[in-house]
Amino acid sequence: MPSIVQERPKVSAYEIATANFQRAADVVGLDDQWRTLIRRPFREMKVEVPLHMEDGTLRTFTGYRIQHNGARGPFKGGIRFSPLVDADEVRALAEMMTYKTALVNVPFGGGKGGINVDPRELTTKELEQLTRRYISRIHLILGPNRDVPAPDLGSNAQVMAWIVDQYGRQHGHSPAVVTGKPLALGGSPGREAATGRGVMICALEGAKDLGMEIKDLRVAVQGFGNVGMWAAKLLNEQGAKVVAVSDVSGGLFNGDGLDIEDICTYKDAQDHHTIEGYSAPGAERVSHADFMGVDCNVLIPAAIESAINEDNVDSVKAKLIVEGANLPVTPEADRRLNERGVLVLPDLLANAGGVTVSYFEWSQNFQQYRWEEDDVNSRLETIMLRAYRAVRDRAQHYNVTMREGAFVVAVERVVEVEKLRGKL
Ligand code: GLU
Repeated sequence: MPSIVQERPKVSAYEIATANFQRAADVVGLDDQWRTLIRRPFREMKVEVPLHMEDGTLRTFTGYRIQHNGARGPFKGGIRFSPLVDADEVRALAEMMTYKTALVNVPFGGGKGGINVDPRELTTKELEQLTRRYISRIHLILGPNRDVPAPDLGSNAQVMAWIVDQYGRQHGHSPAVVTGKPLALGGSPGREAATGRGVMICALEGAKDLGMEIKDLRVAVQGFGNVGMWAAKLLNEQGAKVVAVSDVSGGLFNGDGLDIEDICTYKDAQDHHTIEGYSAPGAERVSHADFMGVDCNVLIPAAIESAINEDNVDSVKAKLIVEGANLPVTPEADRRLNERGVLVLPDLLANAGGVTVSYFEWSQNFQQYRWEEDDVNSRLETIMLRAYRAVRDRAQHYNVTMREGAFVVAVERVVEVEKLRGKL
């Protein structure tokens, strides 16, 4: 399971999404009617999910599925299991998916789901029951051509397998109803690493734009779940030095570079699935509070929202920030980073590799044909680079940040399709 940080951020996901959208809407001069039409979600579903715990008690969890915009295709976005899940967070993340799918130009809209639960407190059996009950309550609004979930924080390929099974009971076997499935059940080669791979591709492009060479990159990765771990592995493979990583248990730093493979092997072998207790010559522990200020030139926040905020932004030493997580930088922190000339590659772009390969998986399910992993990876690279260049062109054209450039590309595409559909 990806790492989960429990503290509720001071600036909510919804506030961050709102600030980011409004800045871009100002850049393109979008009027208020269009701002409202684009921002308000199409449909919000809230469900109560009772669960018989193995200790004999009965607990009830609150779940959501929010479908933000489906103008460009079926709603698309992950299902998150986290104690921080609430309607506002899911709504913000659903909206971000609308822009993310538009930016990489895959034929989907945006949605997100979640259950307010700490999955680490559940047994595997309980997690399966919770997933099945949640799906049995929301299945009517899902479907390969309606709404296609995927993994997100706290969920994984096994959870997607249970969803395929549960959905199939009512609708017949439909692997294209979710993505991020295990390979044996219609998953795509390369999907698990895809978000991290996209982060790596963006980090290398950003470094190139800043005139930095790969061998001089000193990378810090906050969050060592699926995204952070793959980003660290792949950047390492490319010749960058990963000097720091952290997860819910704290951080590790080694100025000469950490042994990422060794850390992964350690983490996988632990019951707690964290880097807690890891030691190696030269590796020092770093606290959560100090992590953003570690000595590095590339910083990858790959955990939760608001990770870079007013409290720690002034300590950031990196020249390049690549947003592996969704909404990891608060608007005030973003403003200060831009003022200091730090290049921030926004979530919409930087973590879009996951949903891009989700699109490949969905296509493969319809084709009943499996692609080779090399093919998946090279098509992913083409799409990421195309998106990167579109964002950079837009940013240069309007003389704005990469974040504003990314929103401009995305919002223009959504508005164009809404107009073609003739809703107004
Ligand atoms: N949860 C991932 C995201 O936030 C993947 C979504 C998907 O593949 O649908 O982008």
